[in-house]
Amino acid sequence: MTAEPSPAPSLVGPGDPYNAFTVDLEEWFHVCGVEPLRFERWETLPSRVEPTTRRLLELLDRANVRATFFVVGWVAERFPRLVEAVRDAGHEIGSHSYAHGRVYELEGEAFRRDLQASVRALRAVGVGPVSLFRAPEWSVNDRSLWALDVLVEEGFRLDASMAPLTMVGSLGFPRCPHVRQTAAGPIVEVPPLVADRFGQVMPLGWGWGLRMSSPRRVLDAIEGVNRQGQPAVLMVHPWEIDPDPPRVRLPARLHFAHYFRLGGFADRLRTILSGGRFGPIGRIAPAASAGT
Ligand SMILES: [Zn+2]
Repeated sequence: MTAEPSPAPSLVGPGDPYNAFTVDLEEWFHVCGVEPLRFERWETLPSRVEPTTRRLLELLDRANVRATFFVVGWVAERFPRLVEAVRDAGHEIGSHSYAHGRVYELEGEAFRRDLQASVRALRAVGVGPVSLFRAPEWSVNDRSLWALDVLVEEGFRLDASMAPLTMVGSLGFPRCPHVRQTAAGPIVEVPPLVADRFGQVMPLGWGWGLRMSSPRRVLDAIEGVNRQGQPAVLMVHPWEIDPDPPRVRLPARLHFAHYFRLGGFADRLRTILSGGRFGPIGRIAPAASAGT
């Protein structure tokens, strides 16, 4: 049972990076709920995660940005050198589950087992302790708030899975980092950046919303959030900067989310990274470790 969130006071210290840049480290075929891309088929599909992640690492290095990589455990098992390269470049590492399933489609214990498997996979490549989590497809929502209890029980201190918009989350979710109380203790929730546009709430910090927006618009929105004393959180996937991404037939909603305006995204991302002040997600929420 999860109680109402309590607002967090200023989570940012002087000199800290004010915004978080995050990466969900996964393959191009890690798409939830698409039958031809189900778990059993993953070994048969061509991998693109290594070159695309290394390209992203280069981009971050040039911009002198340290980020948080939420890594799929299945990927960590198969590409241990890649995860080491991420860590050795100074980036923070969290879990993006083991098998990339939606949390609300897992029974409580299945979620716990998947979470534990993801932590084992990360620890096997020398990452630890693992205390940051992001669910596939922002799938900690009103149907799966119990997952926050499991996260706290498993030693996680920060979750970044609750999107404050209708498509995958809820308009009622706070847009700023906040502490949520669970039966097992507090956890800090750090939502991604959204923006109001044409009477709708759009995902300005990730996916099609980030890719379709000009860097100036994204940076202006970040500054606006910062002026209110709050950090902004962005998220990208390695496959979004793949110059030659494999294509697969997806349902219309997913097709748009995955393929809309990929062209030139790496260049726009470079401009955004060099125009803002970004750091790892754990650094913008130092109060997370203490809770309230
Ligand atoms: Zn994902």
